[in-house]
Amino acid sequence: MNDIPISERLKAVASLITPTHTLADIGSDHAYLPCYAFLEGRIKKGIAGEINVGPYRSALSTIEKYGLSEHITARLGDGLSVIEKGEADCITIAGMGGELIRRILEAGKDRLTDATRLILQPNVGEHQVRLWLMANDFTIDQEMILEEDGHIYEIIQAQKNDQPKTYSAKELMFGPILLQEKSDTFLKKWRAELKKRERVWQSLGQAVPSPEIAKRRFAIEKEIQWINEVTT
Ligand code: SAM
Repeated sequence: MNDIPISERLKAVASLITPTHTLADIGSDHAYLPCYAFLEGRIKKGIAGEINVGPYRSALSTIEKYGLSEHITARLGDGLSVIEKGEADCITIAGMGGELIRRILEAGKDRLTDATRLILQPNVGEHQVRLWLMANDFTIDQEMILEEDGHIYEIIQAQKNDQPKTYSAKELMFGPILLQEKSDTFLKKWRAELKKRERVWQSLGQAVPSPEIAKRRFAIEKEIQWINEVTT
């Protein structure tokens, strides 16, 4: 029985793991995701990568508690440095900012091959992740959006492609697949983001005018226009 205490967010990440030999979960904390994926029969082997000793120890104790030491290993190290090139056919990186995910991918891109599937769940800064994927010839195959405990999360699955797609600035911001689907959760997220941007735009209007402020207001205006187009 799979009684790993995993969030709906991580269950959604796991649901995108297609049959996999070796999963590397980077920033694995308690190693819940690889343990859960193994018990669900989605992976044969799992690696829980952690940069910090505390979460690494938590990963070791989860693996031991569920008797999974033959199948899941915890490795202490920075980002993708814990794996060899091509060792993992699927890599998950979840629960961090998009900028950190981008940095981990950039620093470790020599570990990825054409066969590596990436499943990424940035808490914020999703466009930075999509921009890195496009710049490195990854094509986005699936996206999900879900709400849990008042937060809305996006999940992006991507793989290298011989004929990589070019995404528009709008697709990078909203997600090419999420934009097509326009689910209720997507609309809820972007209606809230619209209000945030309108508040920032107004407060910038009260600041001492400068070319920098004008540039920021212009950029926000463009985003407000896009959000209006997408949500109405
Ligand atoms: N992935 C889990 C989840 O989604 O619930 C844990 C998310 S937790 C907020 C982020 C974890 O990533 C922490 O345990 C942190 O120590 C780890 N982390 C941060 N930077 C890392 C890096 N460069 N390499 C590996 N782990 C990292």
